[in-house]
Amino acid sequence: MSLVGNRPQFVKAAPLSRALRARGTEILVHSGQHYDPELADLFFDELAIPTPDHALGVGKGTPLGQLAAMLTGLEGLVAAERPDVLLVYGDTTTTLAGAICAAKSGVPLAHVEAGLRAFDRTMPEEQNRVTTDHLSELLFCPTPVAVANLQREAITTGVHMVGDVMLDAALLFADAAAHRPGPEAYGLSPREYILMTVHRAAATDTREALASLVQVLGALPGPVLFPVHPRTRTKLADAGLWDAAAALPGVQLVAPVGYLEFTRLLTQARAVVTDSGGVQKEACLHRIPCVTLRDTTEWTETVTHGFNTLTGLDPSRVASALAHAAIPESAPDLYGDGHASARIAEILERFVAAR
Ligand code: UDP
Repeated sequence: MSLVGNRPQFVKAAPLSRALRARGTEILVHSGQHYDPELADLFFDELAIPTPDHALGVGKGTPLGQLAAMLTGLEGLVAAERPDVLLVYGDTTTTLAGAICAAKSGVPLAHVEAGLRAFDRTMPEEQNRVTTDHLSELLFCPTPVAVANLQREAITTGVHMVGDVMLDAALLFADAAAHRPGPEAYGLSPREYILMTVHRAAATDTREALASLVQVLGALPGPVLFPVHPRTRTKLADAGLWDAAAALPGVQLVAPVGYLEFTRLLTQARAVVTDSGGVQKEACLHRIPCVTLRDTTEWTETVTHGFNTLTGLDPSRVASALAHAAIPESAPDLYGDGHASARIAEILERFVAAR
């Protein structure tokens, strides 16, 4: 049983669901954490993700309210289906709900993207990933850094270094993405513009952070294309800052786009400015310089190898990072060989057969 619930998880499930179904039966459950069509339905259609067998439909709510609703929905589902394994992705409320439910139901838990650490336990995502890793029987790590992080927490059994499923997705959909409308659709030229995304609590939960975000936006050199996450749009509007952001010269605020169009826009960008986990890594995969509006990252190797600079929400640090942003020619490939999904499916098959 695989549990998904939001945008990055749909992207990760696209290659892995195929690999799982090539070897066995997958019951796909959608928690409903992301319910906007532009963050959910679009991804199922575009990436040909199978229709979920079950939808918990939790919808809007506080993280704890959503967690409670997911646990209630999942408990009955897991009891009825008795899956051999419950598989969760990444670090969201959906991930945590799956982890708790699996542990309490006596179902083995498998975690895709295990071992990531930003070393900041105030981040909801860090709380989710640490808890999930400690409850998991199978831990699928994207990098040796992730394996080492787990080792430091004394997690050594069930750990598999498989590579990154987002690289699998990037390769699987590379052709389709190359045929999507590029920057020209927004009146921009390749390598001219900065692509921006922002959605995390730290950048959107307080008026102060939102004001800094607008300052950062105003200080970016050159044209900016910013597909705005619905959460960020609502928070900016509620803080009375939307109009100021929309009026900034050279800045285009647009609706979130699908994965294929986003990939096309990313590969053509001059640089990416983001607080997203997945986008930092995708920038690295496509060798586009990345500036991350946070003080920590769980994808630490992107910084170590010069793909990514951490700036927080500080306009002058962002401008300086962009002025120096360039991918070092010697930078290695960090995320495996594009066969992570096949490896995970094979390991799961062996695990289930051995039980
Ligand atoms: N993405 C997308 N459209 C957008 C912005 C992002 O398809 O307008 C994709 C992006 O390619 C990546 C994923 O969404 O695969 C990242 O999701 P998000 O930033 O919401 O979550 P995070 O990775 O931070 O958990």
